[in-house]
Amino acid sequence: MNSPEFSALPLKPALLENIASLGYTQLTPIQAESLPHILEGKDVIAQAKTGSGKTAAFGIGLISRLDVGHFKVQALVICPTRELADQVCKEMRQLARFTQNIKVLALCGGVPFAPQRDSLLHGAHVVVGTPGRLQEHLQKHSLRLDHIKVLVLDEADRMLDMGFSDIISDVISYAPSHRQTLLFSATYSDTIRKLSQSFQFKPIAVSIDTNHHDNDLAQHFHRVDPAKRLHALGYLLAYHRPESTVVFCNTKRECQDVAGSLANCGFSVQALHGDLEQRDRDQVLVRFANKSCSVLVATDVAARGLDIKELQAVINYELPWDPEVYVHRIGRSGRAGKKGLALSLCAETELDRVKAIEDYLNISAHWDELAPFKLSYERRFQPPMITLWIDGGRKQKVRPGDILGALTGTAGIAATEVGKIDVFDKHAYVAITRQYADQALTCLRNGKIKGRRYNVHKSQWD
Ligand code: ADP
Ligand code: MG
Repeated sequence: MNSPEFSALPLKPALLENIASLGYTQLTPIQAESLPHILEGKDVIAQAKTGSGKTAAFGIGLISRLDVGHFKVQALVICPTRELADQVCKEMRQLARFTQNIKVLALCGGVPFAPQRDSLLHGAHVVVGTPGRLQEHLQKHSLRLDHIKVLVLDEADRMLDMGFSDIISDVISYAPSHRQTLLFSATYSDTIRKLSQSFQFKPIAVSIDTNHHDNDLAQHFHRVDPAKRLHALGYLLAYHRPESTVVFCNTKRECQDVAGSLANCGFSVQALHGDLEQRDRDQVLVRFANKSCSVLVATDVAARGLDIKELQAVINYELPWDPEVYVHRIGRSGRAGKKGLALSLCAETELDRVKAIEDYLNISAHWDELAPFKLSYERRFQPPMITLWIDGGRKQKVRPGDILGALTGTAGIAATEVGKIDVFDKHAYVAITRQYADQALTCLRNGKIKGRRYNVHKSQWD
């Protein structure tokens, strides 16, 4: 049933030619799953991650349903934001390029109302808009939906997140009940299912799940007053309480300042920048990787090659100028199927950097409010582990198994309380759960590793 070639679909030759001219030869998986049903006129609820080609899936569907000679609005696409609506509009026009006669109109807020009303008077086949402005046009009768054949809810999950549920219901109430309704979403939830139940008729559900880590990485952007940036960072760390976070700064100076301030607020934090001596750098990385330190404040250069597994969050204290740097930074979180968070603080003057990221990744930024928050110095954010330093390493033929053996043997500490063991040339580190750290320290000091006694102490930061 699902052919990966567009040419196998029942589409007009001119439209097929145009699709080919856009460089689309094969259908993306979500297109292959949904388009055949859409072309049959069925209601479809489709879920696939961002960038999977959902726009063309409904775009090709609705364009092939249009009666071009009939100058009425026959298709309506509702999008969460103006940027997204503009993007969808652009793609619709590209897809409709094979004929001069298809008119696609954007109706979004933030721009004057009257010119939109005038454009509507001239007639349009397809309207793409944001909920609020569409509702306004409907209430003022400048837009009529009596001839709608296809109605699309794009990024439905985000529209619900943004609280558009009631406005959407109102907008849809103006459309004829005999219509095709398509619902697209990057995620699936009970509220999406409810939305579908309210507005769709016997919908066919298609879903493309991928194991690609993009799926598991949530990107959130937060507007911030530059004077309250540190405060906002403290809030994000306290709110999400990630076990391991890398905070990226654009300069070494800022990196040191931020790490210092966070430490003063009781966070378990270390700075990673180019001025560190190799030995200190090793220790910082060891403590971070073994969960004795929860927050690493780093510059891009210093973090190069950093490969920490299970990094829960990446925070951009300040966004980089280059979207590619952003991609490198956030690519460190959510690896190997683990859930990841990418949080970015952005001042008013830095909004163009977000725009560059949106363009580069072909996404539209998800903005979240920062709740009022008090940074209290009594708060303590303790990491789960403590690092012990041992003055013997490879040169002394100390191996990880020997250290583990010394701990679990005489001291009777359960192996589950022992974390990562890193052996260097002349010394080694072992992570112990906070609760057993003192017991482990005593045991290693008084006992022997491979028949020899070693100097052992807590790392200088614990
Ligand atoms: P989504 O809405 O799922 O996030 P988009 O519809 O924005 O994704 O598509 C992402 C990109 O993929 C766009 O640049 C689009 O032009 C491109 N694209 C869509 N369908 C195809 C296809 N069949 N072949 C190649 N590129 C495609
Ligand atoms: Mg989309």
